[in-house]
Amino acid sequence: MIVQFWGTRGSIATPGPATMRYGGDTSCVEVRAGDGDPEHIVVLDAGTGIRRFGGSIDAATRRVDIMLSHLHMDHIQGLGFCGALFRPGLEVHLWGPSTVRQSLRQRLQRYLSPPLFPVRLHELPCDLHLHDVANASFDVPGIHVDCEFVCHPGLTVGYRLTDRASTLTYLSDHDPALGHQVFPPDPTWTSGFRLARDADLLIHDAQFTRDQYLTRAGWGHATLDHACEFALHVGARRLAAFHHDPLNDDDTIDELLVAAIDRYAPDLDVFGARDDLVVSV
Ligand SMILES: [Zn+2]
Ligand SMILES: [Zn+2]
Repeated sequence: MIVQFWGTRGSIATPGPATMRYGGDTSCVEVRAGDGDPEHIVVLDAGTGIRRFGGSIDAATRRVDIMLSHLHMDHIQGLGFCGALFRPGLEVHLWGPSTVRQSLRQRLQRYLSPPLFPVRLHELPCDLHLHDVANASFDVPGIHVDCEFVCHPGLTVGYRLTDRASTLTYLSDHDPALGHQVFPPDPTWTSGFRLARDADLLIHDAQFTRDQYLTRAGWGHATLDHACEFALHVGARRLAAFHHDPLNDDDTIDELLVAAIDRYAPDLDVFGARDDLVVSV
C-alpha cells in the first residue's frame, strides 16, 4: 500500500514557522492498494487536509472511498471542500458510523445543509453512495476492510485495511490505555486490539504530552507513550504518531519523538506523521 498524509492535526494549527514541518491540517490520509492503484483511492477521514487531496486527483481516478472514523468536526470539516465530490459522475462512497436514531446520511446532513453549508448532500454532482458502518467487514477494490468501535467519546470506529501485501490500521482518535500503562492480561479486552494486531503500519493518536494528559484524561486521546505501549501490545511493526495537538509546535513534537525512539527502539519503529509525507507499507 502507498499511504499519503494530507492532515495530521487534532484541530487546525495556526500556520507559521513553528508548525511548518508537521503542518496544520486536520485528519486526512490517502491510501492506495499495491504499488499505488491509479484508479481507486481510499481516504481515511475528511478533515481539512481533504481539500488538498481533492485538488490532487487526476482523470485516471474512477472511485474514491472516504471512510470516516467519527463525526467530530476535525474529521469532517473538509468534506464540503473536497473536489472529488464535485466531479460529475465520479463514484464516491462515504462510510461512517450511524446512531440508533440517525443514519450516516442524516448525521452528515446537519453539516452539509444551510445555514452551515450552501450545498446539500443530494445536490452534489458526483455519484454518491453512503454506507453506515459498525462492527463489520467489507471489500473495496483491492482492499479488505475491517471496522470496529473503539474507545473515544461518541460513536467512533477504527479501520484495518489489508491488501495483497500488507496491513494498515487507522486509529486516529483513540485512548486505549485510559490512563494505565499496563494492559490487561486478556489482550482482546483492549480497545482496538483486533484491528491493530500485527499491523505493518499503525497510525495512532499521540495527541498529548504526559502533562497535557493529566488534565485531559477522558477526552479520548493518547500520549505518545500510550501509543507506543499499545503498538508493542498488539505487535505492530511501525507506528505513525498522529493527531498532534494544535498547541504543540514542531519542536515539541520532535522532543516527544526523540524521547519515544530513545525508549522504544529497536523494538518499535516510531515516526511522526506530517502533512504531505508519503509512506510505502
Ligand atoms: Zn480528532
Ligand atoms: Zn474525536
